[in-house]
Order: sequence, then C-alpha cells, then structure tokens
Amino acid sequence: MGFQITPAEYVDYLILAGEEIEKNGEYVTALDAKTGDGDHWVNLNSGFQKLIAMQKELKEMKLAPMLKKIGMTLMSAIGGSSGVLYGSGYLAASKALKEAEVLDIDTLYTFLQTELTAMMERGKAEPGWKTMIDSLYEAAKAYRAAKETGQGERQIIEAMKRGAEEGRDHTREMEAVKGRASYQANKGVGELDPGAVTMCMQLECLGDFILNHILFED
Ligand code: ADP
Ligand code: MG
Repeated sequence: MGFQITPAEYVDYLILAGEEIEKNGEYVTALDAKTGDGDHWVNLNSGFQKLIAMQKELKEMKLAPMLKKIGMTLMSAIGGSSGVLYGSGYLAASKALKEAEVLDIDTLYTFLQTELTAMMERGKAEPGWKTMIDSLYEAAKAYRAAKETGQGERQIIEAMKRGAEEGRDHTREMEAVKGRASYQANKGVGELDPGAVTMCMQLECLGDFILNHILFED
C-alpha cells in the first residue's frame, strides 16, 4: 500500500513547516526588504503560528473541512498578497478533495495542482514571473513527470522537493512581472523571490515529512 497522510498527520506537517518558517525570519525578511516591503515573513509566520495554536481543533476535522479552515485562517491572519493567495489555494483544494479522506499519491497531486491553478487565477500570474508560484509550479511538474514515468513514491516525493528547489532558485534570474518587485528598476533580478523561498520551505517540509514519517516502504 502506498502512503496516506491523514488530516491529523497533515497538521503535524503544518507544525513542522511553521517551525521552519519561524526559524528563518531574519533571512526571509532581509530578502523581502530588497525586493518587497519587508512584511512577507511577519505575515506568513503569524498565519502559521495561528494554525499551530489551532492544532487540536484542526486535528479533529475531516480532510476537506480542515483544508477550508486552514485557508480561511491563513486568509484572515496573513493579510497582503500571500494571505489571499494561500487562502485561495487551500479553499480550492478543499473543494477539489471533498470526496477524499486522506492525501495519497493521487490526491496529493490533485492538492498541488489545484492550489497552483487557484493561485495563478487569483494572482493573475504565470510561472516565470518571479513569485511563490514558481516553486509550486516546478514541484507539481516534477511530481507529475515522475508519476507518469512510473517511478516509486519515494522518487516522486524526492522529485517534488527538487522541483520546488529549482523553481525557487530560478527566481533569482527572473524579472518580476507582478507584485512589488516589479516596481523596481531592475525588476528584482539577482535576488530570490521571498514568496518562492517560503513556498519552497513548505514543500520541502512536506516532502521530508512524507519521506521520514509516512513512507516506510519502496
Ligand atoms: P505584498 O507585499 O505584495 O502584499 P506579501 O508580502 O504577502 O505580499 O508576499 C510577497 C510575495 O507574494 C512575493 O514575494 C511573491 O512571491 C508573491 N506575490 C505577490 N503578488 C503576487 C501575484 N499577483 N501572484 C502570485 N504571487 C504574488
Ligand atoms: Mg509584502
């Protein structure tokens, strides 16, 4: 049998992601001070800390209502572009997964792809525009490619992590089209996008969580 992430286990992942985000405050804020208005980490961190504080309530929920609750919480707690984008991503995932009980190799792909599409629609943004979308886009693309070529679950999750990292790293050369970095004369070229960095952190944590805690075979 393949991996299955229960809603309660998803909350355990969120706690790890929240801890990782919490640790990287100075780094992300310094990055966002160069190309944005410096508030990305403060906003995102307050959203995750809110989720961590709600862990007991979230752990008792079924998958789709839990994803909806996470989306609404992030939307109201984060503010800024990220709040709306993460909120839209989780709300869309909740709708797409209303029949699902757990995240497995198929429903996790649905989750990633739905979140990506919702963020692109809400942000009116495309991959390659130097945003958080770039990490998610490359992660979902690598996931699909590994799945379609018949690779095992461990390889698929490792491919997802590598995709996220490549997407993040490519934002360094990209010119911003949307968001505050696009107001700068050089369009942020030479700097990583802070939203892509924090998106990548979450995807890396999710990948590590699956590899270390959920997947025992393969
Ligand atoms: P802002 O300061 O623009 O309100 P945040 O500080 O919450 O937003 O987050 C900044 C990050 O949001 C950027 O680094 C970028 O990754 C992402 N971002 C901003 N605008 C958009 C957009 N229209 N579509 C996708 N991502 C965006
Ligand atoms: Mg900002």
